[in-house]
Amino acid sequence: MSKDPTAPPQLLRGMKDILPLDQPYWWWLFDTLRRLATDFSFERIETPILESTSLFTRSVGETTDIVQKEMYSFPDKNGESVALRPEGTTGVVRAYIEHGMLNQPQPVKLWYFGPFFRHDRPQSGRYRQFWQFGFEVFGAPQPVMECQLILMARALFSTLGLETSLQLNSLGDPTVREQYIKAFQAWFKTRKSELSEDQRLQLQRNPLRLLDSHDPHLHTLLDGAPQILDYLDEPSKQHFAAVVEYLDELDIPFVLNPRLVRGLDYYRRTVWEFWPTDDESGQASLGGGGRYDTLVEELGGRPTPAVGFAGGVDRLLLKLKERQIQPPRAEPPQLYVAQLGEPARKKMLRLFEDLRRAGLRVAESMTKDGLKQQLEVAGKLGAHYTLIIGQKELMDDTVLIRDMENGMQEVVAYGKAVVEMEKRLAKAKANGTKPMPGLVKPERFDPRQVADSTDESTADDA
Ligand code: AMP
Repeated sequence: MSKDPTAPPQLLRGMKDILPLDQPYWWWLFDTLRRLATDFSFERIETPILESTSLFTRSVGETTDIVQKEMYSFPDKNGESVALRPEGTTGVVRAYIEHGMLNQPQPVKLWYFGPFFRHDRPQSGRYRQFWQFGFEVFGAPQPVMECQLILMARALFSTLGLETSLQLNSLGDPTVREQYIKAFQAWFKTRKSELSEDQRLQLQRNPLRLLDSHDPHLHTLLDGAPQILDYLDEPSKQHFAAVVEYLDELDIPFVLNPRLVRGLDYYRRTVWEFWPTDDESGQASLGGGGRYDTLVEELGGRPTPAVGFAGGVDRLLLKLKERQIQPPRAEPPQLYVAQLGEPARKKMLRLFEDLRRAGLRVAESMTKDGLKQQLEVAGKLGAHYTLIIGQKELMDDTVLIRDMENGMQEVVAYGKAVVEMEKRLAKAKANGTKPMPGLVKPERFDPRQVADSTDESTADDA
């Protein structure tokens, strides 16, 4: 398709902007996750978006859809094959090994929040750049860890007001999987004619993926297929039984779903997903997790059992909107500053900064001139006092304080305005009539901000 070079630029297919109107949802989710991470002793990690392609082919698996069809992979300027990360666990495992976290007291619990890339067919809830958060636990073979991760995800969904159903399965250890795959392929011997060309290829290359296919014909056909749970060896069976016991103990309902396989090769034993309650096929899955006890070793680290969970931010937020669930409203400003004319604006800018530094929530419309207009904004924002500097205040070196509730006005010296406002807001708080002063604004979250590391460039990069 030829593009008109003079046409206004447009988003690439499958990409989206996250506009200011959406930000309250993002803050809500991020703040909730951060609180949960602290409660459950997870520390934040952010790994680069760009990694070596081979990292993902080794971990996610050569024959998976993600690696074969969806990964954005290309040679960089040095000819090295690099990839935009299609998922989060692999980068965290690389970092865990590379930074010697194996030598720290285990378990090491890490969480992340960032963008991921898959060149998939875009549709509702499926993007080419999408966001995930994830929790990874290293050095914990115990089944209780699966349950802790499930508990956290449930706590998240319940804080957001979303109902989900927990789908649970075990894939056993690699030997179990090998045996099962053989039995599965053998079962299809007499049924190959019922498969499409693509499905036949998949039966050879990545047979387990047939299990979570959304093709209704295949779905019915698979009703009679062997189930992996019947193939579990004793240790996998015991591990799975323990996971189920924990869930029962916590009264967490789940659906035993023998078709849940997940799309990545590194999973061992327990796997799970959270589906919205109105989704019966998993197409709108909100997140999934699993054990990956051999991945650290496969990527060159010491054998380290591990388990993790990743959730899809975009899908979660879509669900919230679909259900008309609103994020909590931000606290209104306590103060608003208004000015008349350029010299007053200069003075007001300084006062604004002094009030802000004192920890008061203060709003402004520095580009406006008319007082009426500014008072309207103050009213809309719900500020309790408006501080005004007009011609007279400018000459007298004063500030006019207007109580927005009753319209009463009082003049104070410019230099005393901050102390005066602190006093008034503290008094109002004590009387329970005005919000407390000094509430710190929610910490600004910059998703692009990565862990503090100074990179040493190599000659190769020059
Ligand atoms: P996965 O890594 O495939 O298990 O994905 C975990 C979660 O990320 C899924 O349950 C989705 O919520 C979300 N997700 C995965 N792929 C996409 C995509 N292309 N667009 C939006 N969300 C996605």
